[in-house]
Amino acid sequence: MNEYKPVMSTGLSVLASSTEEGGSPVLDLQTRAGTRSNLLPLYLPDNLREGAEQKVVFITGRVHPGETPSSFVCQGIIDFLISQHPIARVLREHLVFKIAPMLNPDGVYLGNYRCSLMGFDLNRHWLDPSPWAHPTLHGVKQLIIQMYNDPKTSLEFYIDIHAHSTMMNGFMYGNIFEDEERFQRQAVFPKLLCQNAEDFSYSSTSFNRDAVKAGTGRRFLGGLLDHTSYCYTLEVSFYSYIIGGTTAAVPYTEEAYMKLGRNVARTFLDYYRLNPMVEKVAIPMPRLRKGKPPSYKHSLLRGPASNHPNGKGDKKSSVNHKDPSNSF
Ligand SMILES: [Zn+2]
Repeated sequence: MNEYKPVMSTGLSVLASSTEEGGSPVLDLQTRAGTRSNLLPLYLPDNLREGAEQKVVFITGRVHPGETPSSFVCQGIIDFLISQHPIARVLREHLVFKIAPMLNPDGVYLGNYRCSLMGFDLNRHWLDPSPWAHPTLHGVKQLIIQMYNDPKTSLEFYIDIHAHSTMMNGFMYGNIFEDEERFQRQAVFPKLLCQNAEDFSYSSTSFNRDAVKAGTGRRFLGGLLDHTSYCYTLEVSFYSYIIGGTTAAVPYTEEAYMKLGRNVARTFLDYYRLNPMVEKVAIPMPRLRKGKPPSYKHSLLRGPASNHPNGKGDKKSSVNHKDPSNSF
């Protein structure tokens, strides 16, 4: 059966809006159930200098179909990156984001919790994915290897988004390297994210090389890619988070998940020290595209963690990366 089937309520709407911005899906895989998995390249080609090395951030989500928060976090990242927010504009000008929002569309379509249609946990098959049994994984892996071998591309980040059924907050898993400096540098991104996202916990972030995780994207790519690349699993709680210094658990909402996604995206601004660029693009008002405004503008005023007490400081907040509650 080859007809197209919608497989998720969140994410596919983003596919359409992202193509308006100049990107188009480059990977379109037909899976066993006839569902599709697309890859979004998000960039403004005009802003990428001819011959310049492209810094790529590769993000995947929903390899485990039951982990719906993964899609909301991913949607938060995409909505923000395709918006006209000054930070988003700077990020698009300096980085290439490649996003596969759903690695396991068959599993989502079937309502599986962890496996694909054929009963595989795809996040244990990165070592040797089969084009027949694990087509989305095989396609994404081929693309990543192709980029890794391209001298004009620098694959700098791989982030795989999951949801955790027993832990609270957002947190990351990273890899252990013999190279102490590389190991230390790997901690930078989660530390920066912790500063930006009140629900992200650095203390819950851990680095390991457990044998049971050998077939995961984070472990496999961490072993494949060179010392300039960082691979993480981003986990977010299925239920709630505790803000530092408090004891009360705050239930996660769809908006809070998307806000974490926006904070993940903005953390690349800090990591690459692009903050001065935001002030440059923020001074002249950006020329808005014709048509409907970016959707994140509607959602940023909702949710417990994104309320603006009043209008004061909003202008400043667009460049004040230390205060995420005022930035989104
Ligand atoms: Zn998972």
